[in-house]
Amino acid sequence: VKAIGKPERAVVTTCAYCGVGCTFRAEMRGEQLVRMIPYKDGKANRGHSCVKGRFAYGYANHKDRITSPMIRDSIDQPWREVSWDEAISYTANRVRTLRDKHGANALGGITSSRCTNEETFLVQKLVRAVFGSNNTDTCARVCHSPTGYGLKTTFGTSAGTQDFDSVMETDVMLVIGANPTDAHPVFASRMKRRLRQGAKLIVIDPRRIDLVRSPHIEAAHHLPLQPGTNVAVLTSLAHVIVTEGLADEDFIRARCDWDEYEDWARFVSDEKHSPEFLEPVTRVPAEELRAAARLYATGGNAAIYYGLGVTEHSQGSSTVMAIANLAMCTGNIGRPGVGVNPLRGQNNVQGACDMGSFPHELPGYRHIHDVETRNLFEKDWGVSLDPEPGLRIPNMLDAAVDGTFKAIYIQGEDILQSDPNTQHVAAGLEAMECVIVHDLFLNETANYAHVFLPGSTFLEKDGTFTNAERRIQPVRKVMEPANGYGDWEITQLLANALGARWNYEHPSQIIDEIARLTPSFAGLSWDDLLIRGSVQWPINEKFPDGSPVMHIDGFVRGKGKFVITEYVPTDEKTGPRFPLLLTTGRILTQYNVGAQTRRTGNVAWHAEDVLEMHPVDAENRGLKTDDWARLASRKGETTLKVLVTDRVAPGVVYTTFHHPETQANVVTTDYSDWATNCPEYKVTAVQVVPSNGP
Ligand code: SF4
Repeated sequence: VKAIGKPERAVVTTCAYCGVGCTFRAEMRGEQLVRMIPYKDGKANRGHSCVKGRFAYGYANHKDRITSPMIRDSIDQPWREVSWDEAISYTANRVRTLRDKHGANALGGITSSRCTNEETFLVQKLVRAVFGSNNTDTCARVCHSPTGYGLKTTFGTSAGTQDFDSVMETDVMLVIGANPTDAHPVFASRMKRRLRQGAKLIVIDPRRIDLVRSPHIEAAHHLPLQPGTNVAVLTSLAHVIVTEGLADEDFIRARCDWDEYEDWARFVSDEKHSPEFLEPVTRVPAEELRAAARLYATGGNAAIYYGLGVTEHSQGSSTVMAIANLAMCTGNIGRPGVGVNPLRGQNNVQGACDMGSFPHELPGYRHIHDVETRNLFEKDWGVSLDPEPGLRIPNMLDAAVDGTFKAIYIQGEDILQSDPNTQHVAAGLEAMECVIVHDLFLNETANYAHVFLPGSTFLEKDGTFTNAERRIQPVRKVMEPANGYGDWEITQLLANALGARWNYEHPSQIIDEIARLTPSFAGLSWDDLLIRGSVQWPINEKFPDGSPVMHIDGFVRGKGKFVITEYVPTDEKTGPRFPLLLTTGRILTQYNVGAQTRRTGNVAWHAEDVLEMHPVDAENRGLKTDDWARLASRKGETTLKVLVTDRVAPGVVYTTFHHPETQANVVTTDYSDWATNCPEYKVTAVQVVPSNGP
């Protein structure tokens, strides 16, 4: 970090990387950011931070930043820099022409979990109220959409049940499909503190993540399951709990639908769901599974923490519901120290989902079919809304290839690099007649764009992010936007050019609208938030101070719902050509596709994506650490360096997806969650052979 003198002023704001939501003092000298100091009064981080939040902000002033709008009539032409007036009127004309010719359903928009709540609210409003379709989606489609489906179905709303502090009252932590040390480092530190105090740990993960064995911490049980068998493992845990009489029947009778519980208990009790019967499927020793189930059910306050290793599967939604079943059947819900806690990957994935960015839901997880809710929005917005759900991201791409979907507005998302089956994403984008990319950099998706609207960083705007514990926190403007506008203003310019009459002057007015239209945010206001520092939704008349723990007296849906989750093997099969299973994850110093973290000054962080491989598999192929290898699947191939390690089990390989040179998603498949289309990133059958390099 270059020394640029002593700070002259400081602004308290929220980190724009992961779902922990650390608060920082951004210390400024003139218009220069001098340093980011973790804020001791931040409720999510209490003065702690990781390297990304503290040091990885150089991208805000990076030379690659685009600050002028650009247009081109076709993607084989060079970009032409234009004024904002020309860019907005050019974009509106293209969108209007396509809407007149092909109808509103040919248009859609994608918003990002990197943006503020107010920005995502406006994008879905633009699509619904101005474009006239429900073709609005968010990058949560490819990460936590199964959380939305699974927790809404079982509990009645889609959110983690606990605050982070609650972990200090946990006796047993069950971590499944998450690697908090790398992906949620500040919360991982709190977990480790509790584990060092004596809490027990169960890890369900194909890879031996850092938590399994770290200084003064040893997991009681690490269940290194075969990728794709989460539901089988969770069902076998439930089998042990029910058949050994460890279920909390008093809690179930009081809080859940008893008839549904009985049906579910009969299902899991079947011998074919025993750990012994399922061992050949899960590859987890039955005795380990039995011991883990007993510990979870009888070890005191038990909390489940999960990540994308749960959701990014063809049974992602089933896995989330199987987790909810476990928590309900043991009474581990509705008090501090227990619960079901999705560790949200991105800073505002919770908020993006809360704000109605899904094609079937208006803000607050209310279905578009719900007439009362629709009427409320129609009256407030002065428009008629389409009563039918719109297209999800993969359906928009399919429809584009089929010739029925023509224009897309993508705010803060690089779908070409982040979504599965890159070739299909490219084909969908290429088939569209108007692709509008609104972002900081000319990303990979922008190669297919006709309009580029430069975006603003989190340092350049006011608004709010909602972290993984439902904590709504202010984001404060630290410096003026390099492009002249906040992102919410650009969406407003486009809406008004298309005939809307929006007149927001500050995001606080968007918050007022969100509060007016959404019961779980009814008590939210910008001024109040600045006084409190943060608040956890629901915040309304019943919970005027917010809600650190949910479902205390009853579930949002009334009675908790047990759902039978039958294990269905993925269609992605290994075989002689593709004998290994690839699974993916992140490293501490990089973030998702790396658009921001690769643009920082500290080159020591820029470790390339490598392929972790078990010594036996490596030896069979004549590979050593640092050798180049070709990684091929039925969908595509790429080249990576090998890291030989027993962190992965034989038959499993692992890599990260931070670098466009690697493009790990060229190998991932089209398979997706049955309920939400969340891609099955975590299971790809592959072959690995020696290579001379890229
Ligand atoms: Fe930012 Fe997450 Fe690191 Fe906190 S833990 S500083 S929110 S990246």
